[in-house]
Amino acid sequence: MAQAIKPIENLIEEFNKLPGIGPKSSERFVYYLLQQPDSEIKKLIQAIEQLKNKVKRCSLCLTFSEIDPCPLCRSSQRDSALLCVIAQPTQIQLIEKTGEYNGLYFVLGGVLNPIDGITPEHLNIKQLMARIKNSPKKISEVILALNPDVEGESTSIYLFKILQPYVNKITRLGKGMPVGGDLDYADEITLQNALKSRN
Ligand code: ZN
Repeated sequence: MAQAIKPIENLIEEFNKLPGIGPKSSERFVYYLLQQPDSEIKKLIQAIEQLKNKVKRCSLCLTFSEIDPCPLCRSSQRDSALLCVIAQPTQIQLIEKTGEYNGLYFVLGGVLNPIDGITPEHLNIKQLMARIKNSPKKISEVILALNPDVEGESTSIYLFKILQPYVNKITRLGKGMPVGGDLDYADEITLQNALKSRN
């Protein structure tokens, strides 16, 4: 058996921590990188460094941004009385693509999942309450745009209960979203209809 080469083993171990990446892919990445010129490796290192140095969280919506508040939160073109709650920052792009929504967003940071130990304390619920209470313009509608699966539904019910005293209108994505479906895989038209028919 070949002797273990520590730097190779170390990097394989690091890649292996990435979501969706198994030991085989990790190994492929490492051997690919070993064959790249120094300039390419430097670019990769720089890109990773910049990720942490330049990308922050927007203090209002908690999405990732180079500036705080993020361009969406500071835009005067958006309706600041509408707040759409999503689980992850990537879902902002999905809803923006539909062109159906002109309000602001809030990133919850996940959904409740008692089996995986995700309780309300693990989500940005305190920040959401503060965001609603401290909004310069009163929030007239909160849209809960969470996946229509068991975890998304129970999170929506939980949020509905605690937000009710502070917001007059709380809606969810309407028809079109397949039950048990995933927002990330819904096509533009489906999501557009779900926003239009929110209830
Ligand atoms: Zn923001």
